Amino acid sequence: MLTLNDPSLFREQCYVNGQWIDADDKSVIKVDNPSKGEIIGSVPKFGAAETRRAIDAAEAAWAGWRALTPKERGAYLIKWNDLIQENKQDLARILSYEQGKPVAESLGEIALGSSYIPWYAEECRRTYGDVIPAPRKGIRPITHHQPVGVVFAITPWNFPMSMITRKTAPALAAGCPVLVKPASATPYSALALAELAHRAGFPAGVFNVLTGSASVMAGEMASNVKVRKVTFTGSTEVGKKLTAQTAQTMKRVSMELGGNAPFVVFDDADLALTLNCAYGSKIRNAGQTCISTNRILVQEGIAQDFVTGLVERFKTLRVGDGFEDNVEVGPLINQSAVEHCEALLADAVSKGAKILLGGKRHALGGNFFEPTVLTGMTREMRIFHEEIFGPIAPIMTFASEAEAVELANDTPFGLASYVFTQNLSRAWRIPEALEYGLCGVNDAALALAEAPFGGVKESGTGREGGREGLLDFMETRYVLMGGIGA
Ligand code: NAP
Repeated sequence: MLTLNDPSLFREQCYVNGQWIDADDKSVIKVDNPSKGEIIGSVPKFGAAETRRAIDAAEAAWAGWRALTPKERGAYLIKWNDLIQENKQDLARILSYEQGKPVAESLGEIALGSSYIPWYAEECRRTYGDVIPAPRKGIRPITHHQPVGVVFAITPWNFPMSMITRKTAPALAAGCPVLVKPASATPYSALALAELAHRAGFPAGVFNVLTGSASVMAGEMASNVKVRKVTFTGSTEVGKKLTAQTAQTMKRVSMELGGNAPFVVFDDADLALTLNCAYGSKIRNAGQTCISTNRILVQEGIAQDFVTGLVERFKTLRVGDGFEDNVEVGPLINQSAVEHCEALLADAVSKGAKILLGGKRHALGGNFFEPTVLTGMTREMRIFHEEIFGPIAPIMTFASEAEAVELANDTPFGLASYVFTQNLSRAWRIPEALEYGLCGVNDAALALAEAPFGGVKESGTGREGGREGLLDFMETRYVLMGGIGA
C-alpha cells in the first residue's frame, strides 16, 4: 500500500487542456508493481480521437505560450520546480511503487531530473540569434530562433520522472506546448508531474499527459500536421518505426535510443576509482539504463585485480523491494526482462563464458535477478551485441589500445562509452576514436542538465541537456534585411 503525505498526487486520469479526464469509452490500462506483482491502479486507455483532441488543445495553447517572454515562461518552470522539491518524498515513493527502484535512487532521479527545469528556465533567456557579416553592401542577414510548435514526447519506464523533465523543460522554455505519453508500465510519475504543473498554474493546453495504446496514439500523432516535433526515448526498434511514421508529415525528431556501452579499463587505470564507477554504472536501476555498462573490456595486466575487486563488491549487494532499507538492487521491470537475462547467460555459458558470481533468478523470486559477474565474453556471444538491461557484468580482456578501440566500436549502437586510464594522451586519444555520443573518462555519471546527452549511429539523433537541448525545440529562422544603403 502506497502512503503519501499528499495522496492527491496519485492520479488515475489523463491531464489534458487543464482537466483530468477518462478515455471516451472509459477503458483503462492496469498498472502493476514490479516488486510484488500486484495491481496498483489503472489509467485511461486513450485512442486516436482523444489524442486528436489533446493535440488540438495544445495547438490552441501555442500562440499564448510563445507570446510570453522567456522570463515569463521561466517563472512557470521555476514554480513547477519549487513544487517538485516540496513534494519530492512523495514523488520518490510513487516512482519506486510503479518502477521498483530503491527509494534512495528515486530521490536521486528526482534531483537530477528536476535540475533540468531551473537550468532551462534560465537558458531560454539566452537563445541569441546572429547578425551575419554581409557579403554585399546594403544588406544585413540575421537569424533568430523560434519555438518549433506542438511537441509530442514519448518516454520509457526506466526513468519515469527524469525522461519527462529532460524533454519538457527545454520544450516549454523554448515556447512549445507539450503532450507527454509515458510508458504504460510507469504512468504515475508523469501524472504527478502534471498535477504539480496544474498547481504551478501553466495555462490550459500547455502541459498534457496522455496514457493509452502506444501504437494507436502514435498513429494519430504521426499523421497529424499540428504536431511539429516528436521526442522519443526508448528502444531502437520503436525509434526506427516512429522515424519512418513521422516522415509522412516531415516532423522534427529527437531519438534517444538503446545503447551497448563499452567500459574500457587500461592497465594504468586507478583501480579503486574504476571499480566504483563500474559498480555504479552497472548496478544503478538494476542495470536498466540506456547508458549502463554493457561490455567491460579490461587490459590483460589489470584484469585479475579488476575481476576480483568487482566480484567482492557485487557480493555485498543487497537485492530487494525498493521500499526496504539499504536495498541497492530492485527488481527488473517484468518477467520478459528476467527471461532475457537468462537467455543471454545461457548463450554465453554455452559458448565458453564462466559465471563467477550470481547467474540466475534471485531467491526472492518474481522479477528479482542476482547481481552477476561473467568472464570469458567473446564476440560470438549475444551478450556482446545486445543491450542486457539487467545486473550482469560481462568481462573480456584485450592486449593493445588498437584492439580495445576496435572491440568497443564493434556495434551498431553509439550512446555511452567509458574509458579508465591515467595516461593523459590516451585520455584524449581514445574518446576521439570511440564512435559514441558520450564518453566518460574516469567517471561514469554522464547525465547533467548543462551537457548535451545523446547518441550516434543506431542510438539515435538529437541532444537532451545543454544549449543543444534547447535548440532541438527551436527553428533557426533567417531574415535578410535589404535596402539599407550603406
Ligand atoms: P519501448 O518499448 O521502445 O517503449 C518506450 C516508449 O515507447 C513507451 O512509452 C512505449 O509505450 C512506447 N511505444 C511502444 N511501442 C510504440 C509504438 N509502436 N509507437 C509509439 N510508441 C511506442 O522501450 P522500453 O523498453 O520502454 O525502454 C527501454 C529502452 O529505452 C532501452 O532500449 C533503453 O536503452 C532506451 N533508453 C534510452 C535512453 C536514451 O537517452 N538514449 C534513455 C532511457 C532508455 P507503452 O509503454 O505503452 O508500450
